[in-house]
Amino acid sequence: MSRPAVLVWHCPTYDAVRIAQVVGEGMDTLGIRPRGRIMIKPNVVVAIRGRYEQAHTRAEFLDGLLAATRARAADLTELAVGERSALTLPTRYTFYEAGYNPVLRRHNAAAYYFEEYPDVEVPLRHPDALRPYVYVPEPVTRCDFLINAPKLKAHVWTRMTCALKNYIGLQDSGHRIIDHDFHLEHKIVDLQEIIAPGFIAVDAITAGELTMMAPRPRDLGLIIMGVNPVAVDVVCAHILGIDPRTVDHIRIAAARGLGPLELDQIALGGDVPLAEAQARAANFALSIERVDTALAKKTDRITVHAGPPPADKQTDYCWGGCPGALLETLESLQRAWQPDVYRVIRPMTFVFGAHDGPLDPKPGEPVIFFGDCAQWRGRLRGRATVVASVYKPHGYIDPRRHTGRIDMTRIILRYVWDRVRYFRRPYYRVYGCPASMHEHHLLLAYLGGARNPYTDLSLFLGFVPRYLGSVLMRWWRVEFLARLRRWRRGHPGP
Ligand code: SF4
Repeated sequence: MSRPAVLVWHCPTYDAVRIAQVVGEGMDTLGIRPRGRIMIKPNVVVAIRGRYEQAHTRAEFLDGLLAATRARAADLTELAVGERSALTLPTRYTFYEAGYNPVLRRHNAAAYYFEEYPDVEVPLRHPDALRPYVYVPEPVTRCDFLINAPKLKAHVWTRMTCALKNYIGLQDSGHRIIDHDFHLEHKIVDLQEIIAPGFIAVDAITAGELTMMAPRPRDLGLIIMGVNPVAVDVVCAHILGIDPRTVDHIRIAAARGLGPLELDQIALGGDVPLAEAQARAANFALSIERVDTALAKKTDRITVHAGPPPADKQTDYCWGGCPGALLETLESLQRAWQPDVYRVIRPMTFVFGAHDGPLDPKPGEPVIFFGDCAQWRGRLRGRATVVASVYKPHGYIDPRRHTGRIDMTRIILRYVWDRVRYFRRPYYRVYGCPASMHEHHLLLAYLGGARNPYTDLSLFLGFVPRYLGSVLMRWWRVEFLARLRRWRRGHPGP
């Protein structure tokens, strides 16, 4: 069997013309001819001008990729770009902030904001898949040729994010959070069954160090291309100085036969030797620490007790869930909103998972039990206190019952209601598995006095019309048109 090829090319700046040349040369070398309905899946986990500039596949990169794709496409019926951003931000808002709209118009490409489309059940056939089926937005299932265009970044849950991890954005928020706990790396591999990429182009011109939302930019001047996502991720891991065998989703994907784990099973090409690419990324900064250890080094104002999740002894820490979300939220706050947050935040105690030690908050210091699986028993502020886990085992969650959407307004209203409910108790409780990063933001602002991004008026004019547009389009496509179709078929439905 021939070895999958991975090309590492030099591209020093975000010059769309140069990117189109490099990507075009890569496609020609790999013999890629996109066809039919072509969809590019970038990584736009978040994008806000002046705040989150390097978290996403850059607009110039998309510009060059679209030009190279259109020039080589055969039997083109549609050229589109599709994504579901995180944090329940409307994707039409993050596309606007990322500067995608003029690029899409220039290339006559459609935009698919996945949360505005009905979800379709896709069966998973691998015997080790977490579930027999998953839900993905309908445009994904109609696509003939998917181009995976991730941004190369560090990641607090999975060490790195590249081609395999980019598939998390194929699901809308309600389905995305299912198994987004200590099963996350396994889930990433399951999602690969949805559709195989026809081409992969990694934006590593400026990579992201430390975190995924507000990464520290690190210029590498590289575009990495291939077809096999495991091979691409293995090469990218080596560039970042990570042993790919220590990245669970790469290791599991390779064990399932989705691609090679060893470098000698990959045909390396391009104009940058691997050793030079590694030299460019020397000492690349990662965040691979538990939140309690990492925060203890940064501040004495936040105390974290991260007990084990209910993982049947598979792990003593929920990689992929609530604890990492606190670290990601604080790091984003520090880099994008409030550089002195670790110095000025008011003291707070967070408890994740099953904690069986004492809690000894200072007078006035809030204690927050975060996530469905948080549990603790003891005396808190002189009162006997029992906090019970409400975690539902993985098998009790049925994706068929999830609507696919988690709305930002609902999260804020639930947060307000929870504050009323816990008004007289000696602690706060936040539910969810995982609980939303919004609630970390809201709690850090409300209880810790940190800057609250939701009250930043500079975002208001850009955000509100796109949020309302997103709600309206979803209602139109998912509620109105779907009901109309059922009614026409003679099945009015509920
Ligand atoms: S509630 Fe949070 S910490 Fe607990 S298992 Fe779920 S994601 Fe992990």
